[in-house]
Amino acid sequence: MRPAAGRTARAASGQQDGVVPLLVFPCRQRCDWTAVEQRPHGRLFACNGCGSQWERGQGWTPRQADGTQPPGIAAELRRPADAAGSAGS
Ligand SMILES: [Zn+2]
Repeated sequence: MRPAAGRTARAASGQQDGVVPLLVFPCRQRCDWTAVEQRPHGRLFACNGCGSQWERGQGWTPRQADGTQPPGIAAELRRPADAAGSAGS
C-alpha cells in the first residue's frame, strides 16, 4: 500500500470580492497605453502592445515602451478619489 500524499489541490486564486480582475501581461518593447473605456469609478486603460489593462488603484503605473508615462494616466491619478459617484443609495 502506498501512503497517500497529504496534498490536496486547492483553488488559491478565488479571492475577488467586488474587484474586477484585470489582465496583466509582461510588457515588452512595444507598450502603447490608451484609455479604452470610461467606467463609473474611473477610466480603464489598455496596452496595445502586450494586452495588459490598468485602472487607478492597481499599485503600479503603466509605462510606454520608451519609459514615459502614457498620456491620460497622470490626469487619472490626479483626479480626486471621491469626486463623483460617492453618494450611496
Ligand atoms: Zn504593455
